[in-house]
Amino acid sequence: MEILPILVFFLATVVSTTQGHEPLVTHHIHLLRPKSGAGGDSVPGVSCLSWRLGVETNNIINWKTVPAECESYVGHYLLGHQYRKDSKVVTNEAWLYAKSLNLTNDGKNVWVFDIDETTLSNLPYYADHGFGTELYNSTAFNTWVLEGTAPALPESLKLYKKLLKLGVKVVFITGSGEGQRNVTTTNLKNVGYHTWEKLVLKGSTYSGNTSYVYKSTERTKLVKSGFRIIGNIGDQWSDILGTNVGNRTFKLPDPMYYIS
Ligand SMILES: [Mg+2]
Repeated sequence: MEILPILVFFLATVVSTTQGHEPLVTHHIHLLRPKSGAGGDSVPGVSCLSWRLGVETNNIINWKTVPAECESYVGHYLLGHQYRKDSKVVTNEAWLYAKSLNLTNDGKNVWVFDIDETTLSNLPYYADHGFGTELYNSTAFNTWVLEGTAPALPESLKLYKKLLKLGVKVVFITGSGEGQRNVTTTNLKNVGYHTWEKLVLKGSTYSGNTSYVYKSTERTKLVKSGFRIIGNIGDQWSDILGTNVGNRTFKLPDPMYYIS
């Protein structure tokens, strides 16, 4: 057979190219492996990650729906471990900040929590509606809200409990309408949010106003009545931009919808 001479030639080539030469690379650099398939094509999902980064950083704004091709990506992100891990990073930073403060114990320190996708999760609803790929349907969404069965976001609930122990008062400011006060109260209490200083729902006077304007106005009322907003957490940029946003703001992930 012709295999032996070929093998000898191969070994000789390897020896001649490695003997007597200093290695060109003296230390090993971990080889990055771009996610590309045969022929260098991008693996589906990479562009959805870029899209998610764009919306989380507020570079992509005023979007109406999640791109259809990203339904699976967003669904896996939300139902898998990453959403929880990303949320934990945010709430952990919030806690490190809060406990570092030398707070005066005069009952005036408040932390503002948004509700949807911050305090309570509508993921059971969105999992049935394309994870944000479907246009917002207020009738269907309100039917879900009126069930009052939204679970707590676990990391937010932990932060809430720790802040209370620290002596910080909690104020919820939600874009839900005043008509949902009872169901929201019941839902919050059922999942572990048992106490708060104020629960602010969007009154009819704000109809036609953006969430940005409504939340800024309500925070300003808080400050004018003597409260200090030491922190503010929400899943929308409109929760944490505007006036009297608080000494520090914290943005939770939400790749499902955008509210201006
Ligand atoms: Mg929200």
